[in-house]
Amino acid sequence: KADAATTQDIDPSKLSITKTTTPKDLVPQNELVFGRTFTDHMLSLEWTAKEGWLAPRITPYQNLSLDPASCVFHYAFECFEGMKAYKDSKGQIRLFRPKNNMERMNKSSARIALPTFDGAAMIQLISKFAALEERFIPSEKGYSLYLRPTMIGTQRTLGVGPPGSALLYVIASPVGPYYPTGFKAISLEATDYAVRAWPGGVGDKKLGANYAPCILPQLEAAKRGFHQNLWLFGEEEFITEVGTMNMFVAMKNKETGQKELLTAPLDGTILEGVTRDSVLSLAREKLVKEGWNIVERKVTMKELADAAAEGRLLEAFGAGTAAIVAPVRNISWKGKLVDCGLKPDEEAGEVALKMKDWIEARQYGDEEHEWSYVV
Ligand code: PMP
Repeated sequence: KADAATTQDIDPSKLSITKTTTPKDLVPQNELVFGRTFTDHMLSLEWTAKEGWLAPRITPYQNLSLDPASCVFHYAFECFEGMKAYKDSKGQIRLFRPKNNMERMNKSSARIALPTFDGAAMIQLISKFAALEERFIPSEKGYSLYLRPTMIGTQRTLGVGPPGSALLYVIASPVGPYYPTGFKAISLEATDYAVRAWPGGVGDKKLGANYAPCILPQLEAAKRGFHQNLWLFGEEEFITEVGTMNMFVAMKNKETGQKELLTAPLDGTILEGVTRDSVLSLAREKLVKEGWNIVERKVTMKELADAAAEGRLLEAFGAGTAAIVAPVRNISWKGKLVDCGLKPDEEAGEVALKMKDWIEARQYGDEEHEWSYVV
């Protein structure tokens, strides 16, 4: 909801649409690179503290024109979302759990004194936008239209304070399958010299300011031949997240031998991943029947290494919108390589494989489910 009762919330009925006169050529599907090409249009909404949300507009995709003093450039008043639109077998466009993205965006924006908005109204607008860009969404499995809602503070001032004006816009980028030739398990380097998030911080919010400082440790890991870095926290070296994904570990309980799927609890240092929540829900719905225990608790790197050494570690994987799941082969930690339980000829474990299938079935509407929102 808009911050003050007297100001206007988002009103989808006021949407104006200006179509491009120069439609872009579609990039061949096999040449799609994540986030490199964009569709013909963008959705924009301006906000002012005085009036609230102004009429939404869909216009040709275009540059922004901003005063160099705009607060986004100086104090990082920026937050964003990442979500996808899928085309089902009947040609209908579907969003996946868009309410979760809107709720998360409102939490992010509120934390940096940017305006909040009616999530349902925004979903209506995003639906109109996705429908307009229909030709950019390939119908093959694995393809989708990545949507990037973004909010910035636009107030022209070097004074540090709450922005009196903001811009919310959505751009879209057609994307191909993360693993075009099937799963490829990744190698991780546990980062022990930098932390991504801390108690009382903003690691659970999708602020642009959280991401730039994470590139250097990622480059360091890449320099030594690893695909991603693994974020640890504290002297205990709790496993938190992998790159820009939530982290899951499957292992047998030391005392009972029961199979457990573990992930870090949402204690403020973990991004509230939509995929994380989907994996947990599906695990509680389906894996429990197969004898699994599903646990949100902190797991230390030592615990993981011990489980690996004792043959109890079954598999580990990252979870996020881009890849759905990213199986982990091994983790470099304290000069050792911890093997995460995959056989040499295996690229994914049982749980990761199942999760990808189960989640895709709901994303593409093969299984009708409330998580899927038909545009
Ligand atoms: N953690 C971080 C730090 C991320 O940036 C993302 C991507 N949004 C995720 C986890 C996964 O979240 P989601 O499943 O909503 O994509």
